Amino acid sequence: MKLKLAIQKSGRLHDDSMRLLKECGIDVSNGVNKLKADASNFPLEVYFLRDDDIPQYVEDAVADIGFVGENVVYEKAKKVAVAHELGFGKCRLSIAVHRNEDYPGAQYLAGKKIATSYPVIVSRFLKEKGIEAEIHEISGSVEIAPGIGLADAICDLVSSGSTLFMNGLKEVETILQSQAVLIKNQGLAPEKQQLLDRLLFRIQAVKKAKNNKYVLLNAPNEKLKEIISLLPGMKSPTVLPLAEEGWSSVHSVLNENQFWDIIEQLKAAGAQGILVVPIEKMVV
Ligand code: ATP
Ligand code: ZN
Repeated sequence: MKLKLAIQKSGRLHDDSMRLLKECGIDVSNGVNKLKADASNFPLEVYFLRDDDIPQYVEDAVADIGFVGENVVYEKAKKVAVAHELGFGKCRLSIAVHRNEDYPGAQYLAGKKIATSYPVIVSRFLKEKGIEAEIHEISGSVEIAPGIGLADAICDLVSSGSTLFMNGLKEVETILQSQAVLIKNQGLAPEKQQLLDRLLFRIQAVKKAKNNKYVLLNAPNEKLKEIISLLPGMKSPTVLPLAEEGWSSVHSVLNENQFWDIIEQLKAAGAQGILVVPIEKMVV
């Protein structure tokens, strides 16, 4: 039996999806124009689809799981479960208006025309705010709508904001923060769930490794205690004597978030020759 995974055929999520599988040690040949491919070393079959279709395929159990943006998951509102955040494909769904427009708050949108490819998410936002506005659904190039008089405002995906800027628009409201997630069919058979658990175990190990660094440093023995107290480590740091009398080598794992803070403190406490090495996989 194989776990069937749907990923984007081409577009912004394709490369990161393939890379994640690779980092999980799963080899998938990506023949151009192929609809599906088998992994050679994991019971996995990969379907290459348009991202918009992925939630439907997963709901219908044509695919067991999928990698897709949260924006698409919420817009399509299919009966699927979100099993894991994948950490790539980060963007936000935002409202933008003409650069010169005064925007005192969401009330601005009352009675206005909003162009978007996300009518479901936008109408939910308007409903929550108690605002009545007209939603004009268009499938692409939403950002040109205000300029050609088609709408007063737009709601579209933004990452850097440069597309908005080039079209004379300004971002005024973020209505959803999005990233790629792993979705699964709600009635997954136990054997498939077991395969998914194995895949999730690997995905977690890859993600954890990305957020951590392996740190090696030299410490004078009289400072060892203080230096060790600064290091969280997986259990406790490894301490090895150096050839030079009175010095030790200390190895530990540091989280990206606290990384610079701790490095500064280590230096101040007398650590020398600090080496920072990326970690490929991390299983705790
Ligand atoms: P398809 O042909 O599969 O329908 P598409 O044109 O709808 O592709 P892409 O532009 O490739 O989709 O975007 C796929 C997903 O990438 C989006 O749904 C979103 O989750 C994510 N994404 C990340 N950053 C951005 C961005 N700046 N603009 C648009 N999408 C982004
Ligand atoms: Zn799409």
